[in-house]
Amino acid sequence: MARGATPRQPARTGRQDKVRASTVTRVGTGTHGGTGALARPGRGKASAAAPKGRQGVAGKSAPTSAPKIKSYNPVASERVMEILNRLDHLYPEVKCALTHANAWELLVATILSAQSTDVNVNRVTPELFRKYPTVEAFAALTPEQLEPDVRSTGFFRNKSRSVVGAAKKIVADFGGQVPDDMEKLLTLPGVARKTANVVLGSWFGKAVGVVVDTHVHRISRRLELTTQNDPQKIEQALMKVIPQEKWILFSHQIIWHGRKLCIARKPKCAECSLENICHAADKTWSTVEMHQNAKA
Ligand code: SF4
Repeated sequence: MARGATPRQPARTGRQDKVRASTVTRVGTGTHGGTGALARPGRGKASAAAPKGRQGVAGKSAPTSAPKIKSYNPVASERVMEILNRLDHLYPEVKCALTHANAWELLVATILSAQSTDVNVNRVTPELFRKYPTVEAFAALTPEQLEPDVRSTGFFRNKSRSVVGAAKKIVADFGGQVPDDMEKLLTLPGVARKTANVVLGSWFGKAVGVVVDTHVHRISRRLELTTQNDPQKIEQALMKVIPQEKWILFSHQIIWHGRKLCIARKPKCAECSLENICHAADKTWSTVEMHQNAKA
């Protein structure tokens, strides 16, 4: 970039809230080859002007039968399907990034991944599972004995307590087998819906819910699939708008999207094929008219 040139920055005016009740415009094929998905209107002349011949003229009353205008609905099934189709193209065969060989290892890895990265967890778990190869081996430990092995994943005292507690309960109550049932999984120490959904979806192939981690939380809001902020409410909202057969894949795709492009601080919008149907307030680049006007 030339010295002194200022990169385009997203406006922070809350503009999308101002147009929430606005009209719908079909945008043509965008820079990424979109197929005319539903998008919010520009703020320029084109979308604001009434159709020619329909405007009132001084002294004459305007026709009363104005054309019907649909409200913008970010969770309209057409828009949601467009998002899902583009995610399928971007991330066709993504899987859980946590290294694991069975349900127990996935459960442990998921517990360890809280407030950590998958890369970090994958550095720790091979040696961990070599040292303690079975759930019974973990159940025989005290949390203090496990702490040094998981220290580098952060919050190691809580995580050690959760892993050892879960192992003891699985051995005592479930015959040493990780249950494939949401209610039973939620009885394990350190296991909430996110962890349970990871195990049920990625190991057992059961679409019981949608995994809501930090990436799904952030990107679902950016894509206006929800306005909620609480993970459980986000999950409920996503379960309403996304077809159940897509719940498992959607989470994986969004998690990968969050790692590769839609990163927290500076999303790479110029490289994102969802760009022309995304109206996030913190976009870093935009082909959508309303955003360009806002940045001018
Ligand atoms: S356009 Fe930007 S903010 Fe929207 S989904 Fe893509 S990377 Fe994220």
